[in-house]
Amino acid sequence: MESKKIFLDEGELPRSWYNIQADLPRPLEPPLNPKTGKPIGPEDLAPIFPQELIRQEVSTERWIEIPETVSDVYRIWRPTPLHRARRLEKALGTPARIYYKNESVSPPGSHKPNTAVAQAYYNKKEGVKRLVTETGAGQWGSALAFATNLFGLECQVYMVKISYEQKPYRKSLMQVWGADVVASPSSRTQAGREILEKDPSSLGSLGIAISEAVEDAATHEDTKYCLGSVLNHVLLHQTIVGLEAKLQMEKLGEYPDLLIGCVGGGSNFSGFAFPFVRDKLTGEKPDLRVIAVEPTACPTLTKGPYRYDFGDTAELTPLLKMFTLGHSFVPPGIHAGGLRYHGDAPLLCLLVDQKLIEARAYPQNSVFESALLFARTEGVVPAPETAHAIKAVVDEARRCKEEVIVFNYSGHGHFDLAAYDAYLGGRLQDFAYPQEEIEKALSTLPQM
Ligand SMILES: *Cc1c(COP(=O)(O)O)cnc(C)c1O
Repeated sequence: MESKKIFLDEGELPRSWYNIQADLPRPLEPPLNPKTGKPIGPEDLAPIFPQELIRQEVSTERWIEIPETVSDVYRIWRPTPLHRARRLEKALGTPARIYYKNESVSPPGSHKPNTAVAQAYYNKKEGVKRLVTETGAGQWGSALAFATNLFGLECQVYMVKISYEQKPYRKSLMQVWGADVVASPSSRTQAGREILEKDPSSLGSLGIAISEAVEDAATHEDTKYCLGSVLNHVLLHQTIVGLEAKLQMEKLGEYPDLLIGCVGGGSNFSGFAFPFVRDKLTGEKPDLRVIAVEPTACPTLTKGPYRYDFGDTAELTPLLKMFTLGHSFVPPGIHAGGLRYHGDAPLLCLLVDQKLIEARAYPQNSVFESALLFARTEGVVPAPETAHAIKAVVDEARRCKEEVIVFNYSGHGHFDLAAYDAYLGGRLQDFAYPQEEIEKALSTLPQM
Protein backbone atom coordinates (compact mmCIF):
# COMPACT_ATOMS: atom_id res chain seq x y z
CA MET A 1 0.00 0.00 0.00
CA GLU A 2 1.35 3.43 -0.98
CA SER A 3 1.06 5.80 1.94
CA LYS A 4 -0.58 9.13 1.19
CA LYS A 5 0.04 11.07 4.39
CA ILE A 6 2.10 11.01 7.54
CA PHE A 7 0.61 11.93 10.90
CA LEU A 8 2.36 12.60 14.19
CA ASP A 9 0.83 11.71 17.57
CA GLU A 10 -0.31 14.60 19.74
CA GLY A 11 2.51 13.58 22.10
CA GLU A 12 5.02 14.30 19.32
CA LEU A 13 4.00 17.96 19.09
CA PRO A 14 7.25 19.97 19.35
CA ARG A 15 7.74 21.51 22.81
CA SER A 16 9.79 24.51 21.73
CA TRP A 17 9.82 26.94 18.82
CA TYR A 18 13.08 27.32 16.85
CA ASN A 19 14.67 30.78 16.91
CA ILE A 20 16.89 31.24 13.85
CA GLN A 21 18.41 34.37 15.44
CA ALA A 22 20.74 31.94 17.25
CA ASP A 23 22.21 30.70 13.96
CA LEU A 24 22.28 33.69 11.59
CA PRO A 25 25.37 34.25 9.40
CA ARG A 26 25.40 37.87 10.64
CA PRO A 27 23.27 39.65 13.24
CA LEU A 28 20.01 41.26 12.24
CA GLU A 29 20.19 45.04 11.80
CA PRO A 30 18.02 46.59 14.55
CA PRO A 31 14.75 48.45 13.95
CA LEU A 32 15.35 52.20 14.03
CA ASN A 33 13.43 55.09 15.53
CA PRO A 34 12.54 57.18 12.44
CA LYS A 35 12.91 60.45 14.38
CA THR A 36 16.37 59.84 15.84
CA GLY A 37 17.77 57.21 13.45
CA LYS A 38 18.86 55.28 16.59
CA PRO A 39 17.95 51.64 17.35
CA ILE A 40 14.66 51.36 19.23
CA GLY A 41 14.64 49.69 22.63
CA PRO A 42 12.13 47.34 24.26
CA GLU A 43 10.60 50.35 26.09
CA ASP A 44 9.57 51.88 22.73
CA LEU A 45 7.52 48.78 21.95
CA ALA A 46 5.87 48.44 25.36
CA PRO A 47 2.80 50.60 24.55
CA ILE A 48 1.72 48.26 21.75
CA PHE A 49 3.12 44.78 22.61
CA PRO A 50 3.21 42.64 25.80
CA GLN A 51 6.60 42.09 27.51
CA GLU A 52 7.04 38.44 26.62
CA LEU A 53 6.56 39.07 22.89
CA ILE A 54 9.07 41.94 23.03
CA ARG A 55 11.50 39.57 24.74
CA GLN A 56 10.98 36.97 22.02
CA GLU A 57 11.40 39.64 19.33
CA VAL A 58 15.01 40.29 20.35
CA SER A 59 15.94 36.90 21.84
CA THR A 60 18.90 34.96 20.47
CA GLU A 61 18.11 31.78 22.45
CA ARG A 62 17.88 28.90 20.00
CA TRP A 63 14.83 27.21 21.55
CA ILE A 64 11.88 28.97 23.21
CA GLU A 65 9.50 26.79 25.17
CA ILE A 66 5.88 26.58 24.05
CA PRO A 67 3.60 27.19 27.08
CA GLU A 68 1.40 24.21 27.96
CA THR A 69 -1.78 26.33 27.52
CA VAL A 70 -0.70 27.17 23.97
CA SER A 71 0.08 23.51 23.15
CA ASP A 72 -3.30 22.58 24.54
CA VAL A 73 -5.00 24.84 21.96
CA TYR A 74 -2.60 23.73 19.19
CA ARG A 75 -3.77 20.16 19.78
CA ILE A 76 -7.25 21.13 18.49
CA TRP A 77 -5.76 20.69 14.99
CA ARG A 78 -2.01 19.97 15.40
CA PRO A 79 0.15 18.13 14.54
CA THR A 80 -0.96 18.72 10.93
CA PRO A 81 -0.53 16.02 8.26
CA LEU A 82 2.22 15.87 5.64
CA HIS A 83 0.85 14.57 2.33
CA ARG A 84 2.49 13.00 -0.71
CA ALA A 85 0.98 14.56 -3.86
CA ARG A 86 1.11 11.38 -5.94
CA ARG A 87 -1.72 12.32 -8.30
CA LEU A 88 -0.07 15.64 -9.08
CA GLU A 89 3.23 13.82 -9.69
CA LYS A 90 1.47 11.48 -12.13
CA ALA A 91 -0.25 14.35 -13.96
CA LEU A 92 3.10 16.11 -14.37
CA GLY A 93 4.90 12.91 -15.37
CA THR A 94 7.69 13.82 -12.99
CA PRO A 95 10.13 11.52 -11.22
CA ALA A 96 10.19 14.08 -8.37
CA ARG A 97 8.57 13.15 -5.07
CA ILE A 98 6.29 16.00 -4.02
CA TYR A 99 5.14 16.47 -0.41
CA TYR A 100 3.08 19.18 1.18
CA LYS A 101 2.61 20.23 4.79
CA ASN A 102 -1.08 20.87 5.26
CA GLU A 103 -1.71 23.99 7.36
CA SER A 104 -5.23 24.34 5.93
CA VAL A 105 -6.68 21.95 8.54
CA SER A 106 -6.78 24.57 11.33
CA PRO A 107 -10.26 25.92 12.22
CA PRO A 108 -9.59 29.28 10.45
CA GLY A 109 -8.11 27.38 7.49
CA SER A 110 -4.48 28.53 7.44
CA HIS A 111 -1.16 28.59 9.33
CA LYS A 112 -2.06 31.91 11.00
CA PRO A 113 -3.53 30.59 14.28
CA ASN A 114 -0.05 29.19 15.12
CA THR A 115 0.95 32.70 16.14
CA ALA A 116 -2.53 34.11 16.91
CA VAL A 117 -2.96 31.60 19.74
CA ALA A 118 0.49 32.38 21.20
CA GLN A 119 -0.08 36.15 20.95
CA ALA A 120 -3.54 35.96 22.55
CA TYR A 121 -2.10 33.82 25.36
CA TYR A 122 0.76 36.21 26.27
CA ASN A 123 -1.53 39.26 26.08
CA LYS A 124 -4.12 37.61 28.30
CA LYS A 125 -1.42 36.60 30.78
CA GLU A 126 -0.26 40.23 31.04
CA GLY A 127 -3.76 41.58 31.72
CA VAL A 128 -4.66 42.97 28.29
CA LYS A 129 -8.42 43.09 27.60
CA ARG A 130 -8.69 43.98 23.92
CA LEU A 131 -6.58 43.12 20.85
CA VAL A 132 -6.58 45.11 17.65
CA THR A 133 -5.18 44.16 14.27
CA GLU A 134 -5.38 44.53 10.49
CA THR A 135 -6.23 41.83 8.00
CA GLY A 136 -5.73 41.48 4.24
CA ALA A 137 -7.54 38.50 2.79
CA GLY A 138 -9.19 37.97 6.18
CA GLN A 139 -7.09 34.95 7.15
CA TRP A 140 -5.20 36.74 9.88
CA GLY A 141 -8.31 38.48 11.24
CA SER A 142 -10.15 35.18 11.46
CA ALA A 143 -7.15 33.51 13.12
CA LEU A 144 -6.98 36.24 15.75
CA ALA A 145 -10.77 36.17 16.24
CA PHE A 146 -10.52 32.39 16.77
CA ALA A 147 -7.72 32.82 19.33
CA THR A 148 -9.12 35.80 21.25
CA ASN A 149 -12.46 34.01 21.54
CA LEU A 150 -10.78 31.02 23.21
CA PHE A 151 -8.92 33.28 25.67
CA GLY A 152 -11.86 35.62 26.44
CA LEU A 153 -10.37 38.79 24.88
CA GLU A 154 -12.14 41.44 22.78
CA CYS A 155 -11.00 41.66 19.15
CA GLN A 156 -11.09 44.64 16.75
CA VAL A 157 -10.14 44.01 13.11
CA TYR A 158 -9.37 46.58 10.38
CA MET A 159 -9.94 44.69 7.13
CA VAL A 160 -8.47 45.92 3.79
CA LYS A 161 -11.49 47.25 1.89
CA ILE A 162 -11.02 45.29 -1.36
CA SER A 163 -11.02 42.01 0.61
CA TYR A 164 -13.92 43.16 2.79
CA GLU A 165 -15.91 43.47 -0.43
CA GLN A 166 -14.49 40.41 -2.24
CA LYS A 167 -14.62 38.06 0.75
CA PRO A 168 -17.73 38.80 2.83
CA TYR A 169 -17.68 35.32 4.40
CA ARG A 170 -14.27 35.87 6.00
CA LYS A 171 -15.89 38.80 7.79
CA SER A 172 -18.79 36.55 8.81
CA LEU A 173 -16.35 34.00 10.22
CA MET A 174 -14.65 36.69 12.34
CA GLN A 175 -18.06 37.76 13.61
CA VAL A 176 -18.95 34.16 14.46
CA TRP A 177 -15.89 34.18 16.75
CA GLY A 178 -17.04 37.47 18.25
CA ALA A 179 -14.76 40.06 16.57
CA ASP A 180 -15.73 43.61 15.53
CA VAL A 181 -14.73 44.07 11.85
CA VAL A 182 -14.48 47.38 9.97
CA ALA A 183 -13.41 48.10 6.34
CA SER A 184 -10.11 49.97 6.07
CA PRO A 185 -9.51 52.81 5.36
CA SER A 186 -12.18 53.67 7.94
CA SER A 187 -13.34 56.89 9.55
CA ARG A 188 -12.51 55.49 13.03
CA THR A 189 -8.89 56.64 12.99
CA GLN A 190 -6.97 59.75 12.04
CA ALA A 191 -4.85 57.69 9.59
CA GLY A 192 -7.98 56.31 7.90
CA ARG A 193 -9.73 59.67 7.70
CA GLU A 194 -6.69 61.30 6.06
CA ILE A 195 -6.53 58.63 3.36
CA LEU A 196 -10.29 58.80 2.69
CA GLU A 197 -10.06 62.56 2.33
CA LYS A 198 -7.39 62.21 -0.39
CA ASP A 199 -9.00 59.18 -2.08
CA PRO A 200 -12.58 58.34 -1.03
CA SER A 201 -12.53 55.22 -3.26
CA SER A 202 -9.26 53.82 -1.84
CA LEU A 203 -9.16 49.99 -2.05
CA GLY A 204 -7.03 49.97 1.06
CA SER A 205 -3.81 48.02 1.61
CA LEU A 206 -2.16 46.14 4.44
CA GLY A 207 0.07 49.17 5.07
CA ILE A 208 -2.97 51.43 5.56
CA ALA A 209 -4.78 48.92 7.78
CA ILE A 210 -1.67 48.51 9.95
CA SER A 211 -1.60 52.29 10.44
CA GLU A 212 -5.20 52.24 11.64
CA ALA A 213 -4.69 49.30 14.00
CA VAL A 214 -1.49 50.71 15.53
CA GLU A 215 -3.19 54.07 16.09
CA ASP A 216 -6.19 52.34 17.72
CA ALA A 217 -3.89 50.41 20.09
CA ALA A 218 -1.84 53.48 20.97
CA THR A 219 -4.96 55.52 21.79
CA HIS A 220 -6.87 52.94 23.91
CA GLU A 221 -6.05 51.73 27.42
CA ASP A 222 -6.15 47.93 27.91
CA THR A 223 -5.60 47.46 24.16
CA LYS A 224 -2.56 45.98 22.43
CA TYR A 225 -1.72 45.48 18.79
CA CYS A 226 -1.07 42.16 17.06
CA LEU A 227 0.75 41.59 13.80
CA GLY A 228 0.11 38.43 11.76
CA SER A 229 3.44 38.35 9.93
CA VAL A 230 6.82 40.09 9.38
CA LEU A 231 8.02 40.36 13.01
CA ASN A 232 10.58 37.96 14.48
CA HIS A 233 8.23 36.59 17.14
CA VAL A 234 5.59 35.75 14.53
CA LEU A 235 8.11 33.79 12.45
CA LEU A 236 9.27 32.09 15.65
CA HIS A 237 5.75 30.80 16.46
CA GLN A 238 5.34 29.55 12.90
CA THR A 239 8.41 27.29 13.18
CA ILE A 240 6.08 24.69 14.69
CA VAL A 241 5.22 23.98 11.01
CA GLY A 242 8.78 23.22 9.90
CA LEU A 243 9.67 21.35 13.09
CA GLU A 244 6.75 18.97 12.56
CA ALA A 245 7.52 18.63 8.85
CA LYS A 246 11.12 17.75 9.66
CA LEU A 247 10.01 15.00 12.03
CA GLN A 248 7.60 13.68 9.42
CA MET A 249 10.30 13.62 6.73
CA GLU A 250 12.57 11.77 9.16
CA LYS A 251 9.88 9.14 9.67
CA LEU A 252 9.76 8.69 5.89
CA GLY A 253 13.54 8.44 5.69
CA GLU A 254 13.57 11.44 3.35
CA TYR A 255 15.28 14.84 3.36
CA PRO A 256 14.13 17.62 1.01
CA ASP A 257 16.25 18.77 -1.95
CA LEU A 258 13.94 21.70 -2.45
CA LEU A 259 11.61 23.67 -0.17
CA ILE A 260 8.97 26.02 -1.57
CA GLY A 261 6.55 28.45 0.03
CA CYS A 262 4.63 31.62 -0.80
CA VAL A 263 5.56 34.95 0.74
CA GLY A 264 3.30 37.81 1.78
CA GLY A 265 5.09 39.07 4.87
CA GLY A 266 7.12 35.87 5.14
CA SER A 267 5.64 34.03 8.13
CA ASN A 268 4.36 30.74 6.67
CA PHE A 269 7.39 30.44 4.42
CA SER A 270 9.87 31.13 7.20
CA GLY A 271 8.10 29.01 9.80
CA PHE A 272 8.10 26.12 7.38
CA ALA A 273 11.62 26.60 6.03
CA PHE A 274 13.75 27.88 8.95
CA PRO A 275 14.11 24.56 10.83
CA PHE A 276 15.55 23.11 7.58
CA VAL A 277 17.54 26.27 6.73
CA ARG A 278 19.30 25.69 10.04
CA ASP A 279 20.93 22.61 8.46
CA LYS A 280 22.15 24.81 5.61
CA LEU A 281 23.56 27.36 8.05
CA THR A 282 25.40 24.72 10.06
CA GLY A 283 26.87 23.28 6.85
CA GLU A 284 25.10 19.96 7.33
CA LYS A 285 22.94 20.34 4.18
CA PRO A 286 24.76 22.86 1.99
CA ASP A 287 22.89 21.84 -1.19
CA LEU A 288 19.37 22.38 0.13
CA ARG A 289 17.52 24.82 -2.16
CA VAL A 290 14.82 27.08 -0.75
CA ILE A 291 12.49 29.14 -2.96
CA ALA A 292 10.23 32.01 -1.84
CA VAL A 293 7.38 32.81 -4.24
CA GLU A 294 5.57 36.14 -4.58
CA PRO A 295 3.18 37.82 -7.07
CA THR A 296 4.56 39.93 -9.95
CA ALA A 297 2.00 42.57 -8.88
CA CYS A 298 3.87 42.95 -5.56
CA PRO A 299 7.43 41.77 -6.29
CA THR A 300 9.13 42.71 -3.02
CA LEU A 301 11.99 40.18 -2.91
CA THR A 302 12.60 40.04 -6.65
CA LYS A 303 12.46 43.77 -7.47
CA GLY A 304 12.73 45.76 -4.26
CA PRO A 305 15.95 47.24 -2.84
CA TYR A 306 17.25 46.08 0.59
CA ARG A 307 16.68 49.23 2.64
CA TYR A 308 15.28 50.65 5.86
CA ASP A 309 11.58 51.47 5.45
CA PHE A 310 8.42 51.93 7.47
CA GLY A 311 6.20 48.91 8.03
CA ASP A 312 3.05 50.95 7.37
CA THR A 313 1.70 53.69 5.13
CA ALA A 314 1.19 56.35 7.81
CA GLU A 315 4.83 56.08 9.04
CA LEU A 316 3.84 55.10 12.58
CA THR A 317 6.04 51.97 12.89
CA PRO A 318 9.80 51.81 13.48
CA LEU A 319 12.03 51.50 10.40
CA LEU A 320 12.80 47.90 9.45
CA LYS A 321 15.70 46.74 7.28
CA MET A 322 14.01 44.74 4.53
CA PHE A 323 13.40 44.35 0.83
CA THR A 324 10.71 46.92 0.13
CA LEU A 325 8.68 48.46 -2.66
CA GLY A 326 8.18 51.61 -0.59
CA HIS A 327 5.63 52.03 2.19
CA SER A 328 3.38 54.23 0.03
CA PHE A 329 3.11 51.57 -2.71
CA VAL A 330 -0.45 50.22 -3.04
CA PRO A 331 -0.33 46.95 -5.00
CA PRO A 332 -2.93 46.13 -7.69
CA GLY A 333 -6.00 44.29 -6.34
CA ILE A 334 -4.91 40.70 -7.01
CA HIS A 335 -6.93 37.91 -5.40
CA ALA A 336 -4.05 36.76 -3.22
CA GLY A 337 -4.81 39.55 -0.74
CA GLY A 338 -2.38 38.07 1.80
CA LEU A 339 0.52 38.72 -0.59
CA ARG A 340 -0.18 42.46 -1.06
CA TYR A 341 2.43 43.84 1.34
CA HIS A 342 5.17 46.31 0.37
CA GLY A 343 7.87 44.79 2.61
CA ASP A 344 8.90 41.42 4.04
CA ALA A 345 10.12 39.92 7.31
CA PRO A 346 13.62 41.26 8.18
CA LEU A 347 14.80 37.72 9.11
CA LEU A 348 13.75 36.34 5.73
CA CYS A 349 15.22 39.37 3.91
CA LEU A 350 18.60 38.86 5.56
CA LEU A 351 18.73 35.26 4.32
CA VAL A 352 17.63 36.28 0.81
CA ASP A 353 20.29 39.00 0.84
CA GLN A 354 22.86 36.34 1.84
CA LYS A 355 21.69 34.23 -1.13
CA LEU A 356 20.70 31.38 1.18
CA ILE A 357 17.11 31.66 -0.08
CA GLU A 358 16.03 32.26 -3.71
CA ALA A 359 13.01 34.34 -4.73
CA ARG A 360 10.78 34.39 -7.79
CA ALA A 361 7.50 36.03 -8.88
CA TYR A 362 4.51 34.87 -10.96
CA PRO A 363 1.47 36.61 -12.54
CA GLN A 364 -1.91 35.52 -11.20
CA ASN A 365 -3.32 33.69 -14.25
CA SER A 366 -0.38 31.28 -14.26
CA VAL A 367 -0.86 30.83 -10.52
CA PHE A 368 -4.54 29.93 -10.89
CA GLU A 369 -3.73 27.52 -13.72
CA SER A 370 -1.58 25.57 -11.24
CA ALA A 371 -4.18 25.95 -8.48
CA LEU A 372 -6.76 24.33 -10.75
CA LEU A 373 -4.40 21.50 -11.68
CA PHE A 374 -3.84 20.88 -7.97
CA ALA A 375 -7.58 20.99 -7.16
CA ARG A 376 -8.29 18.54 -9.99
CA THR A 377 -5.52 16.09 -9.11
CA GLU A 378 -5.13 16.21 -5.33
CA GLY A 379 -8.78 17.20 -4.80
CA VAL A 380 -8.17 20.08 -2.39
CA VAL A 381 -8.70 23.73 -3.32
CA PRO A 382 -5.76 25.97 -2.36
CA ALA A 383 -5.90 29.59 -1.23
CA PRO A 384 -4.72 31.98 -4.00
CA GLU A 385 -1.66 32.73 -1.82
CA THR A 386 -0.78 29.04 -1.50
CA ALA A 387 -1.28 28.63 -5.25
CA HIS A 388 1.84 30.78 -5.79
CA ALA A 389 3.89 28.05 -4.11
CA ILE A 390 2.13 25.39 -6.17
CA LYS A 391 3.02 27.18 -9.41
CA ALA A 392 6.70 27.03 -8.47
CA VAL A 393 6.36 23.34 -7.50
CA VAL A 394 4.81 22.58 -10.89
CA ASP A 395 7.58 24.45 -12.73
CA GLU A 396 10.33 22.71 -10.77
CA ALA A 397 8.75 19.26 -11.05
CA ARG A 398 8.34 19.67 -14.83
CA ARG A 399 12.12 19.82 -15.09
CA CYS A 400 11.82 16.11 -14.38
CA LYS A 401 14.62 15.60 -11.93
CA GLU A 402 14.47 12.86 -9.37
CA GLU A 403 14.32 14.98 -6.28
CA VAL A 404 12.31 15.55 -3.14
CA ILE A 405 10.20 18.72 -3.22
CA VAL A 406 8.36 19.80 -0.07
CA PHE A 407 6.06 22.82 0.00
CA ASN A 408 3.91 24.52 2.55
CA TYR A 409 0.19 24.33 1.88
CA SER A 410 -0.49 27.50 3.83
CA GLY A 411 -4.29 27.53 3.53
CA HIS A 412 -7.44 26.44 1.72
CA GLY A 413 -9.38 28.49 -0.81
CA HIS A 414 -12.94 27.85 0.35
CA PHE A 415 -13.49 31.57 0.89
CA ASP A 416 -11.80 32.44 -2.41
CA LEU A 417 -14.22 30.83 -4.84
CA ALA A 418 -15.06 34.20 -6.43
CA ALA A 419 -11.43 34.31 -7.59
CA TYR A 420 -11.78 30.81 -9.07
CA ASP A 421 -15.01 31.96 -10.78
CA ALA A 422 -13.10 34.87 -12.33
CA TYR A 423 -10.33 32.56 -13.55
CA LEU A 424 -12.73 29.95 -14.97
CA GLY A 425 -14.73 32.72 -16.66
CA GLY A 426 -11.58 34.17 -18.27
CA ARG A 427 -12.04 37.38 -16.30
CA LEU A 428 -8.87 37.28 -14.25
CA GLN A 429 -6.62 40.23 -14.98
CA ASP A 430 -2.83 40.02 -15.11
CA PHE A 431 -1.15 43.18 -13.94
CA ALA A 432 2.01 44.45 -15.61
CA TYR A 433 4.92 45.02 -13.26
CA PRO A 434 3.84 48.33 -11.66
CA GLN A 435 7.21 49.99 -12.29
CA GLU A 436 6.14 53.62 -12.22
CA GLU A 437 4.19 53.29 -8.96
CA ILE A 438 7.07 51.42 -7.34
CA GLU A 439 9.64 53.99 -8.45
CA LYS A 440 7.44 56.74 -7.05
CA ALA A 441 7.04 54.93 -3.73
CA LEU A 442 10.78 54.17 -3.52
CA SER A 443 11.63 57.84 -4.04
CA THR A 444 9.97 58.57 -0.65
CA LEU A 445 12.06 56.09 1.37
CA PRO A 446 13.76 57.53 4.44
CA GLN A 447 17.49 58.16 3.91
CA MET A 448 19.08 55.64 6.31
C1 LIG B 1 -1.65 35.33 5.16
C2 LIG B 1 -1.41 34.20 4.27
C3 LIG B 1 -0.23 34.12 3.52
C4 LIG B 1 0.81 35.21 3.49
O1 LIG B 1 1.33 35.58 4.72
P1 LIG B 1 2.77 35.14 5.22
O2 LIG B 1 3.02 35.89 6.45
O3 LIG B 1 3.74 35.47 4.12
O4 LIG B 1 2.69 33.68 5.44
C5 LIG B 1 -0.03 33.00 2.75
N1 LIG B 1 -0.96 32.02 2.68
C6 LIG B 1 -2.11 32.07 3.38
C7 LIG B 1 -3.11 30.97 3.24
C8 LIG B 1 -2.37 33.16 4.19
O5 LIG B 1 -3.50 33.21 4.88
